Amino acid sequence: MRYYGLKRRINLLIFQFRNLRRQKFECPICDYRGPFMDKATHNGIRRHARCPNCAALERHRLQFLVLREVFREKETAHLRMLHVAPEAFFREFFSQRFGRYETADLKMKSVDHIVDLQHLPFEDNTYDFVYASHVLEHVPDDRKAISEIRRILRPNGMAMLPVPIYSEKTVEFSEPDPHEFGHVRAPGLDYFDRYERYFAKVERFDSGSQPEKYQVFIYRDNSHLSKTEYPWPSPMQCEKLTDVVPVCYV
Ligand SMILES: [Zn+2]
Repeated sequence: MRYYGLKRRINLLIFQFRNLRRQKFECPICDYRGPFMDKATHNGIRRHARCPNCAALERHRLQFLVLREVFREKETAHLRMLHVAPEAFFREFFSQRFGRYETADLKMKSVDHIVDLQHLPFEDNTYDFVYASHVLEHVPDDRKAISEIRRILRPNGMAMLPVPIYSEKTVEFSEPDPHEFGHVRAPGLDYFDRYERYFAKVERFDSGSQPEKYQVFIYRDNSHLSKTEYPWPSPMQCEKLTDVVPVCYV
């Protein structure tokens, strides 16, 4: 197992000792085995969410498993990739595999490119792989952003564009929701249909496709959402939500 500093290791031992009886899981990112931590959010507790060793959440574990599966047999050393809103968890995985690894964001200072996804400053056919997780729910004209991502991909290129899932059907907001991190929509399970207009094939990997030991479901109470002005089709209370990683092929 990979360790992350002495302080975190001590905290890990304390957490494990206090939670000896809790259900045990496995983190595919750092190889930790044991109970995961609950995560306190503004709308309740998310059970078994965080790996106490590397701090990866449910979505990071699912995304990592899908990445590992998709790139298992692929030769990628000659390929060029763009990592949008780069998460620390995947920097090493990507930079070791891709010959040219570049990062981009609208605001982050430590990236290679400051970009607006709705108007990407890159030529057509520039990248082989684009990764942007939990980004499109912040973008007003997401269809333009999806078409821009498709435009900068080379033939045989691929994109992974996961978003948080809230319900069955996507709800568009009239303005950014300050209670939901400024999201301009709450994507539903139907959201990934939007990608099909721009990509030849969209493959969906969901939480149920992975072994239970990795705990890649989201325990989230969505009942507060019905109290907002938005027309929620079916607010979900303390449900075990399925997460999805869509893989889009040019
Ligand atoms: Zn971990």
